Amino acid sequence: MKVGVLALQGAFREHIRMLKSLGVEALEIRLPGELDEVDGLIIPGGESTTMRKLLTDYGFVDTVKEFAAAGKPVFGTCAGLIVMADRLNGRKQDFLNLIDIDAERNAYGRQVDSREADIPSKSLGEDPFHAVFIRAPQILGSGPGVETLALYQDRVVLARQKNILVATFHPELTGDTRIHKIFLQMLGRKVR
Ligand code: GLN
Repeated sequence: MKVGVLALQGAFREHIRMLKSLGVEALEIRLPGELDEVDGLIIPGGESTTMRKLLTDYGFVDTVKEFAAAGKPVFGTCAGLIVMADRLNGRKQDFLNLIDIDAERNAYGRQVDSREADIPSKSLGEDPFHAVFIRAPQILGSGPGVETLALYQDRVVLARQKNILVATFHPELTGDTRIHKIFLQMLGRKVR
């Protein structure tokens, strides 16, 4: 099993490092054709406007949509969530539309660029997850097919819809591998 991490921009190296620490073969994805070689894809955090432009310029849009439509797992963190969302501030986004959520960019305001919080999540187990938010989006709403995996301040911050997983924060920046393990389970790999 191989996992690709979109490596056009943003925090892809940290995801690669975390996957390798879990003994998973991880590939940096820079061209759409490279998706043929992987079973799952991570779209990292970064800057969603830049990422959207690069995804378009490099011809990724249809390929990523087909990848997800084939049932292959896609995990988006922060800016990755933004480019995967069906809607932004209530308006349909004409893009990947991978998950039935409405997202808002930089939703915690510009004054506080980042924040960290311990987030309880029954889906992850007993211990709370130490979440690092960096100019993070919020999920304003979601459709009935979207399962809430964790909440912070009454907002969904970790969600899943079938083969799609999204987090508004950066799980790859902590030593806690539980969320990446959920993603690997979605890929059908048994993880201890
Ligand atoms: N604020 C960024 C954006 O809107 C996302 C930040 C991040 O990915 N850490 O694209």
